[in-house]
Amino acid sequence: MGMGALFGRKSNTQRAVRQAKRFAFLSSSGIAAPVSGRCLLCGKEQLSFEFAGLCDECRGKITPNAGKTCEKCGRPLIAEERFCETCREKERHFDRAYSCYVYEDAAKQLVTRFKYAKALYIARQMAYDMAELYFTKDISCSLIVPSPSSAERIKERGYDHIAMLTEFLRGIINIPVAYGAVVKGKDNKMQAGLGGVEREENVLGVYSGGENSGMLKGAHVLVVDDVLTTGATASEVAKVAKKFGAEKVKVLTFASTRYSAGFSGATPGRSGDTEEL
Ligand SMILES: [Zn+2]
Ligand SMILES: [Zn+2]
Repeated sequence: MGMGALFGRKSNTQRAVRQAKRFAFLSSSGIAAPVSGRCLLCGKEQLSFEFAGLCDECRGKITPNAGKTCEKCGRPLIAEERFCETCREKERHFDRAYSCYVYEDAAKQLVTRFKYAKALYIARQMAYDMAELYFTKDISCSLIVPSPSSAERIKERGYDHIAMLTEFLRGIINIPVAYGAVVKGKDNKMQAGLGGVEREENVLGVYSGGENSGMLKGAHVLVVDDVLTTGATASEVAKVAKKFGAEKVKVLTFASTRYSAGFSGATPGRSGDTEEL
């Protein structure tokens, strides 16, 4: 890789982080006011801001991940078992993963709008819910590591949605963020179009330590992401964090897919991520 490519990537990523910080600041100070008194899904006026900022009606369409979950990856389980099949059979480099909602219906729609339709105002509420889980579960970490997106994706999207989420979360749980500690190197294929096994192969070796990897030493890392599907990405990011000396790695996502035997991730095909725009 030439120096030009390196600087190109760096400035793209840095620009996205600056943009996220500015957006979080403007929102929190009320200047941008991304959270109105309206339901985040249907837009109906409402007074309550619990349950992902949804009105009474839309609230029924979101499933808190409060039932039986895998004690490692935190995905909702159907069977009465301690761990999902993936966590029983595969090495997981994170210590524990947690998520607020089951990735279906309203949770899926919120993430889709946030990620693909520039609905940045959703970030604040997502971060509030994640912070609540962080405190409820006593997750207690010392450093946030945002799950890195590749420079190409950030450019394509126009913003780094995980940095947006991270900036709001940081403002509530009040621990430092290490941008660029773990970076995404070569651009892998879009995860959304792949099945479980493909997803796992797709992320292997894609992540590496970046310029701030020194911050990882001795840290209790909190990896922040929007959705956990197979957990393969989280595991790879955790692997890099531990390689650079992180003591513990926990993962916090807004939603996670329901685990079903025979397939370790979301439904294959692109349908899952774009149909509800
Ligand atoms: Zn609604
Ligand atoms: Zn599991």
